[in-house]
Amino acid sequence: MPFSSLGLHPLVLKSVQEAGYTEPTPIQSAAIPEIIAGHDLIGIAQTGTGKTAAFTLPMLTKLSASILDGQLRGTKALVLAPTRELALQIDENVRAYGRNLPLRVATIYGGVGERPQIEALRSGTNLIIACPGRLLDLMGRGFANFSGLQYLVLDEADRMLDMGFIPSIRQIVRLLPRQRQTLLFSASLSRDIEKLTHEFLRSPKMVQIGRRADPAQTVTQLVYEVPNHLKSELLLHLLRDSSMNMVLVFSRMKHSADRIARNLEQRGVKTATLHSNRSQAQRLRALKDFKSGAVRVLVATDIAARGIDVDGISHVVNYDFPMHPEDYVHRIGRTGRANAIGDAISFVTPEDHSDLRALERFIGRGIVRKKAEGFNYAAPTTPRTHNQATQQRPHQSQQGHSSHRRSSQGGGGGGGGGGGPRRGGFRNRFGSR
Ligand code: AMP
Repeated sequence: MPFSSLGLHPLVLKSVQEAGYTEPTPIQSAAIPEIIAGHDLIGIAQTGTGKTAAFTLPMLTKLSASILDGQLRGTKALVLAPTRELALQIDENVRAYGRNLPLRVATIYGGVGERPQIEALRSGTNLIIACPGRLLDLMGRGFANFSGLQYLVLDEADRMLDMGFIPSIRQIVRLLPRQRQTLLFSASLSRDIEKLTHEFLRSPKMVQIGRRADPAQTVTQLVYEVPNHLKSELLLHLLRDSSMNMVLVFSRMKHSADRIARNLEQRGVKTATLHSNRSQAQRLRALKDFKSGAVRVLVATDIAARGIDVDGISHVVNYDFPMHPEDYVHRIGRTGRANAIGDAISFVTPEDHSDLRALERFIGRGIVRKKAEGFNYAAPTTPRTHNQATQQRPHQSQQGHSSHRRSSQGGGGGGGGGGGPRRGGFRNRFGSR
């Protein structure tokens, strides 16, 4: 089904084309017509499936007549998201999808000065994306006027629940008009989420893409068994493969994230870190450098990585095995986003074996064990040259907001395993089952 048959406004369609999207993802095909028809909606979809466009495109379509008439006054849409990184990504996407409409958008989150946010709320910015804590604080002090609000989106509702935001969300929703359209997105439909939908939504339609706990289909998963003390050498060894051009490394603890990054930097691999001890400015900088290719590796902890939407991540490396199977699913969902292809590599030490088996039961399949070719498991010495490892990413193209961005990096990879289409390329296996 093409985008043109979904009932979107021509100026919204234009920005979709400009973003380089050729066809809607399953969640978009299913959700957009329901939202345009005015229904409340529960969207169950894994991370990276195109949810943001699924709710933004129809909202913009429905607001477009009054936007173009110059009649749009005040805040019409509120999107609640669990983390500031996610809020900023939604902001970026909304601006791209709304680039052909004179729409005012602002994002509200903690950890930064509140003046511009107060100003945005006071001046009736049309679409607000917000993290619940800061928004509630500003609402409590009388800075927001949501009396004309028409759309409420609860994005990543399951994560907001996990992070304890539900009491704040309840208070926020109590202050919104009852007559509104509410859209709730979640990666899973637990009993708690169901309870929320009864509380906030009216006769909702439900669209469900994919099954719970099923890692993205486009990700190739591998396990490397390695003793703890050889992990950093193994990572450097793997990084000799130039197809590992945009690598997200997960560590359990903040201090180990710093240590891994320091080690990589010392060995000539450009690296940034993302964890909650870093300031907001440092976190934004790290993401920006990773996206632009100024650094090849981003080392992150689980909380900091929630909601990262960076196109073209070639590999996720679980340097430390995740504590919970849900974290694994979430981590590997950072690659293979939209239709792109990615690899997820997990280092497994002897102590991790029982967790690995528990994970395999959780995801309902085994993960292939691999030995790193040419790696000396017995007596590793410091490799003398790391020519490929020290390189930055082979090349970057600058096409802006599109998942197709790195699709040209196809054939360049060296060693590595597995044939088939390379990472960053697209293959149309988008989780439609
Ligand atoms: P989301 O699930 O909204 O975080 O989107 C995941 C990624 O998919 C983002 O990088 C979007 O730019 C991209 N995307 C969304 N819709 C499409 C589409 N129809 N075709 C290709 N890429 C898309």
